[in-house]
Amino acid sequence: MQDIILETQGLTKEFRGFVAVNDVSLRVQRGQIHALIGPNGAGKTTCFNLLTKFLTPTRGKITFNGLDITRDSPAHIARRGIIRSFQISAVFPHLSVLENVRIGLQRETGLSFHFWQSDKRLNTLNERARELLDQVDLGEFADEMTASLPYGRKRALEIATTLAMEPELMLLDEPTQGMGHEDVDRVTQLIKRVSQGRTILMVEHNMNVVSSIADTITVLARGSVLAEGNYAHVSKNPAVMEAYMGT
Ligand code: ADP
Repeated sequence: MQDIILETQGLTKEFRGFVAVNDVSLRVQRGQIHALIGPNGAGKTTCFNLLTKFLTPTRGKITFNGLDITRDSPAHIARRGIIRSFQISAVFPHLSVLENVRIGLQRETGLSFHFWQSDKRLNTLNERARELLDQVDLGEFADEMTASLPYGRKRALEIATTLAMEPELMLLDEPTQGMGHEDVDRVTQLIKRVSQGRTILMVEHNMNVVSSIADTITVLARGSVLAEGNYAHVSKNPAVMEAYMGT
């Protein structure tokens, strides 16, 4: 039997009559890397915003681990373990790389900064932060100012701060966007590494990335699901080819 961690049924979002997401039924299998792809305007970002409740669906249902979360607040969604990667702007540029991850860890525990500051458990937090930085190849940058990190490394830090929040389902928003080949390869490998024991749903444009790490791909076009399956399956689909050629 398939173990579905996240499911949407008939998920729909209309903006003043314009249907941005149309009757999307998505099934994300536990432990997989699942990619959401599609041409610009396909509805990928709107889908992510619906899943994290930044937007409220017009219709449809979202189930996480079998529980209906359609009416949950964004804070509840995060507490359930659905964590979306922070945008770089949410990383504090004037703190060290390590401090940024520590803040993620503190958010996860829900305890105040002062509590940890005043307690020797700060050491435990620092140790955990260093472990997470090692996972994303940022160990050597731990004490550097975040603002001085190159772009690709900042995106890796974003993944580390997301990991700090102990995601059961990690939502990655175009994790390789704007990167050169070397950074794309490094971030692809690290996503593969951190996916062990986790489920990842990612929006990604780079087909090399998608073909090399995604177990399942859902192709959206004009708000609807066009195709679903592994890369070999969806890349041969004539409707998918046409949707990409048409943009
Ligand atoms: P993608 O992420 O696949 O590029 P989006 O989800 O950003 O697509 O957008 C899907 C469609 O919904 C686009 O046509 C976009 O213009 C429209 N859209 C997105 N957000 C809004 C909004 N807040 N108000 C009106 N239209 C929107």
